[in-house]
Amino acid sequence: MPGGNTLKMGHLYTNSTMAGQANNSNNSIKGNPLQRAKFLLSSPDMAHVPPDNAYEVAFAGRSNAGKSSALNTLCGQKSLARTSKTPGRTQQLVFFELDDTRRLVDLPGYGYAKVPNKMQEAWQKTLDKFLETRQSLKGLVLVMDSRHPLREFDRQMLEWCAYKKMPVLVLLTKADKLKKGPANNTLLQVRKALEALPDVTVQLFSSLKQTGVQQAREHIYRWLGLHNTP
Ligand code: GDP
Repeated sequence: MPGGNTLKMGHLYTNSTMAGQANNSNNSIKGNPLQRAKFLLSSPDMAHVPPDNAYEVAFAGRSNAGKSSALNTLCGQKSLARTSKTPGRTQQLVFFELDDTRRLVDLPGYGYAKVPNKMQEAWQKTLDKFLETRQSLKGLVLVMDSRHPLREFDRQMLEWCAYKKMPVLVLLTKADKLKKGPANNTLLQVRKALEALPDVTVQLFSSLKQTGVQQAREHIYRWLGLHNTP
């Protein structure tokens, strides 16, 4: 992953007051288009991915951050992302399609260290190549456990996104595990730590309590060009 920008994370643990979340609701979308998502294919390399001619939004996060749950919740489906966890697919790019020109891409195992180094290296290369070259990629959803945000992997992803000017939506997941005050403090602190980055939105999210779900969907709809669809 190319270096470039140095993130100013020093503010992460400073005290902050409560922050409200922006409500980006837009009523032009009926229902939830993400519900149409269905498994398209998975690929361990860039030779077998769908043509690079669509709108794509990718999902990344450290293992156990709550990425699969977030994907399922956002898509209003119970087991969509289980596909990405089946043995053999943990090191594959997993594509879900909404229609011919819109896809979600799960990047399972990104930053996942429990595989032999050689495999990890090859997989890392595939992921880097995908992120580096994929024209269809319009934004990245970065999933972090709200109790442990901005770990090394998250910082690397954010650094890369800043370098590539790739828009990022940070979901601080499992927000239900924090009380309201600490959750809002975390939100504020992460926002502050990332304020110098060009296109990063940070919000609280809980699959369990459905916190921030509509807000995140609206963001993804925009990246997928869905707000222009009748
Ligand atoms: P992944 O490895 O990033 O795909 O993470 P998963 O979605 O499989 O979630 C990891 C663990 O966190 C599971 O035990 C989930 O039940 C739990 N989890 C995920 N989202 C939430 C949430 O919003 N609230 C709570 N309390 N637990 C969650």
